[in-house]
Amino acid sequence: MMEYSPVIGLEIHAQLLTRSKLFCACATTGDDAPNSRTCPECLGHPGALPVLNAEAVRMAIRAGTALGCTLHPDSRFARKHYFYPDLPKGYQITQYDRPIGTGGALRFRMPDGNIAHAAIQRIHLEEDAGKLIHTETDARADDNRCGTPLLEIVTYPVFISPEAAVAFLQELRRMLMYIGICDGSMEHASLRCDANVSLRDTANAPGQRTEIKNLNSFRHIEHALHWEIDRQRTVLASGGTVEAVTLLWDENANAGSIMRGKESAADYHYVDDLDLPELVITTEEIESVVATLPELPLARAERLVQEHGLSHYDADVLTADRMMVDFFEELLRCLPADRRAALTKSAVHWINGELLAAMKNQACGTIPVDAARLAHLLERIDDGSISHSAAKLVFENMCGSSQDADALIAELGLLQVSDETTLRALAEDILEAHPAEVHAFQNGKQGLLGFFIQRMMEQSQGKADPRRSSAILRDLLAGAGDQEMKEATARRSEQEGSERSARAGEGDSP
Ligand SMILES: [Zn+2]
Repeated sequence: MMEYSPVIGLEIHAQLLTRSKLFCACATTGDDAPNSRTCPECLGHPGALPVLNAEAVRMAIRAGTALGCTLHPDSRFARKHYFYPDLPKGYQITQYDRPIGTGGALRFRMPDGNIAHAAIQRIHLEEDAGKLIHTETDARADDNRCGTPLLEIVTYPVFISPEAAVAFLQELRRMLMYIGICDGSMEHASLRCDANVSLRDTANAPGQRTEIKNLNSFRHIEHALHWEIDRQRTVLASGGTVEAVTLLWDENANAGSIMRGKESAADYHYVDDLDLPELVITTEEIESVVATLPELPLARAERLVQEHGLSHYDADVLTADRMMVDFFEELLRCLPADRRAALTKSAVHWINGELLAAMKNQACGTIPVDAARLAHLLERIDDGSISHSAAKLVFENMCGSSQDADALIAELGLLQVSDETTLRALAEDILEAHPAEVHAFQNGKQGLLGFFIQRMMEQSQGKADPRRSSAILRDLLAGAGDQEMKEATARRSEQEGSERSARAGEGDSP
């Protein structure tokens, strides 16, 4: 049987974070009552004239630069004609034969950990359509989304597996969020993806492409691509031919359905939109945008691995959110230089653990503590002033207040007890109060050490230094064990002695 390998290309629509629409002053977000954010221009009333949003152009330049595209000084808008109830104008303004950017690539980490480059074919600006709201009995058009600016990013068909396509998309999403042009929400459709799929045979002959429309989660994309690859394999294996079709993915049914025959460009009757002049961008404009571009997330993750010895996993979790990784690097800067390397792991741990959890609990979009105070808290754990569990309490109190670590440790009375005499006295009291457990420990139930440490923590309100406490308890238990052993030996020899004399009394001789 002929072997086939999949070839996947992606078209991504990223909604740009501008305040107003691409060609009119209507807001892109806000009042969501249907048809509340519309005007004659975005509804395509006769005589309305589109005016290009300069901020959307700057955002396209940002993305084009980050992707290494060639940005063209004179691109052009065209009208793409089709009929659908969510498109009141009867055409969509987009860029066709003269897009703003071509070429470029995005580096991303493949599922096996290796870095790959996905070649970009083009990027262009276009406006979004409205949407239909389906009820039990009818469907209504909501035109609020009409004219919302989108950046379409088209890759070459370079992905050899659904997993690779998803890995690329995750990196692209992170990058677009980093450079501040898209909120990356697939759930709210600000990032959507169409995928085209074909199978190549062993002779490398390309197969017929099909397209799956409007995929809105990484999981759906992966499922849909696997399903379509399997479908094409089955068609070819039974001697059939793959038709050029457009499919819709139904996640609940875990199946795609053929929506229509795939259109060709001719079906759309593209014409230049003569209401809009050429889109001219100057070298100065490009340079001013380039100057404000941040370090891109994958490069930043790699730098963290190199400079601070982070694992790829930790670096990836941290760089998932620019605000978090900015905070991480600031936290490192706040630590004393001679302790920085030693405390890096602890810093990662606190940010990816306690801090993320606190932000999730409070559902707040900002970091509730400043780096300098958290750095000070990490130092206090490191120098043994407070235990890890006490530090969590300090951290909780630190969030949303302006008090520093030392003030809170004092106020909450959490300074760790590591004084030998105090701890030893406490440990002795505890062992005395639990003779049964001491006995069981000495008969091999070593796990009971945890029980005693637990009591130490309770008795000291969490202030006993756990490492010291553990050492002292071991020491005392071993001592008590020696004592018991001596007593047992003494008892045994006594017993043996009397047995011997009893036997002697019976007159038994060896
Ligand atoms: Zn409008």
